[in-house]
Amino acid sequence: MQNKHGGRSVVVIGGGPAGLKTAEILIQAGVQVDLYDAMPTVGRKFLMAGKGGLNLTHAESAEIFSSRYGARRAQIKQWLEDFGPDELRKWALDLGVTTFVGTSGRVFPAEMKAAPLLRAWLHRLRKEGVRFHMRHRWNGCAEVNEPGVKQLALCFNSPEGEHTVYADTVVLALGGGSWSKLGSDGAWVQLLKHLGISVSPLLPSNCGFDVRWSEHFSSRFAGHPVKSVAVTFADAAGISHYRQGDFVVTAGGVEGGVIYTLSSLLRDEIAEKGSVEIFLDLMPGKALARIISEIAHPRGSRSMSSHLQSRASIKGVKTGLLRECVPQDDFEHPERLAAAIKALPIKLIAPRPLDEAISTAGGVMFESLNESLMVRNLPGLFCAGEMLDWEAPTGGYLLTACFASGYCAGKGVLEWLATKESQT
Ligand SMILES: Cc1cc2nc3c(=O)[nH]c(=O)nc-3n(C[C@H](O)[C@H](O)[C@H](O)COP(=O)(O)OP(=O)(O)OC[C@H]3O[C@@H](n4cnc5c(N)ncnc54)[C@H](O)[C@@H]3O)c2cc1C
Repeated sequence: MQNKHGGRSVVVIGGGPAGLKTAEILIQAGVQVDLYDAMPTVGRKFLMAGKGGLNLTHAESAEIFSSRYGARRAQIKQWLEDFGPDELRKWALDLGVTTFVGTSGRVFPAEMKAAPLLRAWLHRLRKEGVRFHMRHRWNGCAEVNEPGVKQLALCFNSPEGEHTVYADTVVLALGGGSWSKLGSDGAWVQLLKHLGISVSPLLPSNCGFDVRWSEHFSSRFAGHPVKSVAVTFADAAGISHYRQGDFVVTAGGVEGGVIYTLSSLLRDEIAEKGSVEIFLDLMPGKALARIISEIAHPRGSRSMSSHLQSRASIKGVKTGLLRECVPQDDFEHPERLAAAIKALPIKLIAPRPLDEAISTAGGVMFESLNESLMVRNLPGLFCAGEMLDWEAPTGGYLLTACFASGYCAGKGVLEWLATKESQT
């Protein structure tokens, strides 16, 4: 059917940053966009990210930035060349939201919130003509048995019941598998496998880990932040990994900051060996010899806790960790206690479940896609965002790659439509 879009229309399924970015590219190029989402409103995970300040991107050099994507750096670097951190900040500014670079190089909106940005974005997309179809859960594709017809028959569940939408160009931006209550539940994995698309298993990324804390420690210290520590561990290849930062003790383990930065390595190590031992340096700024001499001072009638606090500034949850992990006898031996302060062993036995993770590793394999993110064996079907097989630490790298992949898929769709038009 010819219309003001010259008959060019595309279905986007999933209204997170990736799907919305694709919709934006398409509508601004004069393509009709129908965007479907399972939830009553779009961008729920984006809004949740806003609760932590919305770390949009990072101001470090392009080379370091792309290195954050590990094994997928080569592919993601290509997306970032077209739509990277600078373009993302400019895009936010166009929507009336200024950004600033924090002391760590992380980039945030001035108001540290996602809602104003999302509101302005959705307002603009609606004004430009994107049609939103909420409460529409995509359930897969039906066979189209008419010879010569290359359309996909997209099956949706909506409050009005089940119905089918026919489209020849479709972008899937269905998110990962964590925080399913926000919409992205990973149920698409089976649907895509059914379509013959290779998907690597979804795994937790930027996740916490289980530790067998004693009941006493857990009830006393769950929720306590452990600040300014260093974590070291050696992987199966004998390579030592070291990171400084903070983390939080949970009822059954550890999560946050420095643990997230190591989480992909720790997760893979546990998958291989069943558990992994990390070593905490509770005083990264102080040398072992100095700590020994401080602790060796006579403590008189003072308790060990106040001695550690006054001589080594160890208190609260850090003292709790020492009590939890160091044999009682070692407290009487300054060398042994100091050694524990510099390298306290903690055994991680499992990553926390995918649903609790900040993001998802695994997903649609790049080998299934061409450079424009079109599925090789299903021309006209594109994928974008966290549902692709990449992972990155927190720091703005997740959102930036989601936006960048949405941009890449949008441009890919435009090329695909142009190719089709030139053939008719
Ligand atoms: C607590 C938290 C804090 C975060 N903070 C940050 C941060 O500060 N910085 C950062 O870079 N990243 C952050 N992230 C990660 C970031 O929010 C995600 O990587 C990003 O939102 C993924 O975008 P996406 O478009 O790929 O998917 P999503 O945002 O997950 O959107 C996917 C959409 O698809 C819809 N959908 C899924 N399945 C179907 C279906 N079958 N039918 C129809 N619709 C469907 C969903 O309803 C959803 O709207 C955070 C994540 C969490 C959980």
